[in-house]
Amino acid sequence: MDKEKRTEIGTLGEFGLIDQINKQVQLKQASSLKGIGDDAAVLGPSDKLRVVTTDMLLEGVHFDLSYTPLKHLGFKAIAVNVSDVAAMNAIPTQVTVSLGLSNRFSVEAVEELYEGINLAANHYNLDLVGGDTTSSRAGLIIAVTAIGEVGEEEISYRSGARQNDIVCATGDLGGAFVGLQVLEREKQVFLSDPKMQPQLDKYPYITGRQLRPDARMDIIHELRELKVVPTSMMDISDGLASELFHICKASGVGVAIYEDKLPIDKQTYDTALEFNLDPITCVLNGGEDYELLFTINQKDFKLLEKHPDIHFIGHVTAAGDGKVLVTKSGSAVPLKAQGWQHF
Ligand SMILES: [Mg+2]
Repeated sequence: MDKEKRTEIGTLGEFGLIDQINKQVQLKQASSLKGIGDDAAVLGPSDKLRVVTTDMLLEGVHFDLSYTPLKHLGFKAIAVNVSDVAAMNAIPTQVTVSLGLSNRFSVEAVEELYEGINLAANHYNLDLVGGDTTSSRAGLIIAVTAIGEVGEEEISYRSGARQNDIVCATGDLGGAFVGLQVLEREKQVFLSDPKMQPQLDKYPYITGRQLRPDARMDIIHELRELKVVPTSMMDISDGLASELFHICKASGVGVAIYEDKLPIDKQTYDTALEFNLDPITCVLNGGEDYELLFTINQKDFKLLEKHPDIHFIGHVTAAGDGKVLVTKSGSAVPLKAQGWQHF
């Protein structure tokens, strides 16, 4: 937060603040007929299906401002919603952002948050078309709703996985969870001795994974170009194992995942060991990577085979075969899902 200048929100008022926010917004999508500035946003008709998703981020539950820059937080709030739009194989078009602000937050702090929000809106080519700001008694609340579009033939539900489909995961996994361990440790060091500065330089990749995740719209656009429609898809927000359980349940199938195929970054692996964590457990149960988990029909394998960032981690089995992890030694152990419990 900018310590040089602090303008109380009260001096601008809610309408002044909205004007301030609106100044930064330029509509890009043809379907955004009216954005901020009337009683409701107006979206034009579409010959596609529309997907709607919403997510709420609460200070102290989902983020800690002692190590989260507001600009990153603004970006992340949009990215996690875009990730859910991506998980339907849809393209995001609009978002609304609502904030609950305590009097701790100045106009400058809100501007910093919106800097990240606008950066994400440009990055994902979507429009900020509305929202609300209200005062909160304690802490910051960010509620985002995202809208996206997808052709009827292209939508991917959780329920479409079929026996013998190939299970794919993008990027690498576990980094955001291990990055969070680093941030929490450095915070404790700082709390016990404020003269100690956080040592984050050693862990740029994994702390970045935690603080500023990027939704995999690049993969969605590539799948579209290749005309590959995943038979089922989810984004990996609660951990790979947990998401696999959701797909298996919705599709009525089982799954076999191979330990030696699981994608993990070297920094994630090394740092997990430093924290006495099992790297594979971090990959399976760490959350917030915002990568994509999807299944494809075997006929599409050739099209994706050479993709550097799509990993083929297993296959779909019959429901009766259960959900198993095949270890490096070749034994099949039951997969355990322990997702993120916020409550
Ligand atoms: Mg999701």
